[in-house]
Amino acid sequence: MCSPYSGELVGRVAKGGTAEARRAVDAAERAMREPLPAHKRAEILVRVAGALGRRHEEVARLICAEAGKPLSAARVEARRAMSTYTMAAVEARKLVGDMVPMDASQAGEGKLAFTLRRPVGIVGAITPFNFPLNLVAHKLAPTLAAGCAVVLKPAEQTPLSALLLAELATEAGLSPGWLNVVAGPSGEIGDVLVEDPRVAVITFTGSGEVGWRLRERAPRKRVHLELGNATPAIVDADADLDDAAAKLAANAFSFAGQSCISVQRIYVVREVYTDFLERFLPRVEALRLGDPAEEGTDVGPVVDDAARARVLEWIEEARTAGARILAGGSLRDGLIEPTVIAEASPELKVSREEVFGPVCTVTAVDTLEEAIDRANGTRFGLQAGIFTRSLSAALRAAQRLEFGGVTVNEAPTFRADQMPYGGVKDSGNTREGPASAVRELTEERLIVLQLP
Ligand code: NAP
Repeated sequence: MCSPYSGELVGRVAKGGTAEARRAVDAAERAMREPLPAHKRAEILVRVAGALGRRHEEVARLICAEAGKPLSAARVEARRAMSTYTMAAVEARKLVGDMVPMDASQAGEGKLAFTLRRPVGIVGAITPFNFPLNLVAHKLAPTLAAGCAVVLKPAEQTPLSALLLAELATEAGLSPGWLNVVAGPSGEIGDVLVEDPRVAVITFTGSGEVGWRLRERAPRKRVHLELGNATPAIVDADADLDDAAAKLAANAFSFAGQSCISVQRIYVVREVYTDFLERFLPRVEALRLGDPAEEGTDVGPVVDDAARARVLEWIEEARTAGARILAGGSLRDGLIEPTVIAEASPELKVSREEVFGPVCTVTAVDTLEEAIDRANGTRFGLQAGIFTRSLSAALRAAQRLEFGGVTVNEAPTFRADQMPYGGVKDSGNTREGPASAVRELTEERLIVLQLP
């Protein structure tokens, strides 16, 4: 593995393919023959959370090294992973079914019935590079909480954080077979997860292109998809503009825009458009571009040369089409400058596709309704945000925005790990966050008892 910033070697990882993936499924199957009681699963999860706390700085530096994520953001990710494990431990201890009111129908009289929540089976998990620790945590921790064994394929660029989590789980007392990490060619490992009938669920976080294809290929499995977005934020006429500018500037460029909910499209009601830009642009220009391992760096590299070339091409497409570049727009020391584009028409890629780079658009709109229509105008629906002082505007937006989550007076990049999090439309078909994920990784079994 090489640093996306310097190209220096960060680590070496054994490469696994079809045979290793099959062996991993065998191991998972053996492990699940002897179920782990909930209290043991919870204890292991709590121990992993504790180890993440004790080794916090080392974990953050590993994320920074393999993903090129600025240290400050890597530290936040490491802290969030602790929270993900902690919340999953809570869920492991409260996994219950429901009582069924049997005498509510004539047929049920004289019976007692309840449901149990049972682990769904072996889980195949596939994760992206951009949160190499916490998005892996969002797969591994709920899987164990639900009582399932897992075969994880981490992203090619970032297997080290995933392997560290596996090491922490082993140190925390998890027996072999429950957690299997196979790093290697995605096609080969993906094929095993799709084709092996013992894998009951595929849980995937990444691009729609790969995710929806996996779902088509595995019609008899549950395929949970957490996909991309072209994240919109609305600034209404009565918004606190300083607050909106500060939060949006920070969240459009954090980790060089490589978050599925990075702010990408900002719609500002026209009467405050100039005032907003006066506050927003200086904040963007003040962001420090540079080595992610240096304290104080805000924006580092995108993940590889191909991503850099693609993002620059999309900026160029906008420039050529007559959009105005208000900030950035070029390379500085090999890094893409934080770029703000005005007057980008809706058909440009920066307006309708996921940029996944340090680029956002700002657009003046006449009304809140127009802002909402524009925000809804892509195929994505993960999170959206609105800045307003009006309760009725906030509620109107919350009702009309077609997204899995809507933030009010907070950037749509906000996520706390216990939240039910996930998209509609092309952005996915599931909810993560330990409580939601555990529900999705278990199934109900009905028990009916004849009363004496
Ligand atoms: P990606 O290219 O789709 O890769 C994601 C994972 O899928 C990687 O582990 C990749 O392996 C694997 N993969 C690729 N082709 C495969 C195949 N044929 N079969 C099985 N697995 C395959 O996405 P990415 O570039 O890493 O991540 C960026 C995307 O993730 C963005 O669209 C972003 O919005 C989305 N994302 C969504 C969320 C969310 O929670 N909704 C969170 C973060 C990111 P290799 O790396 O080995 O190719």
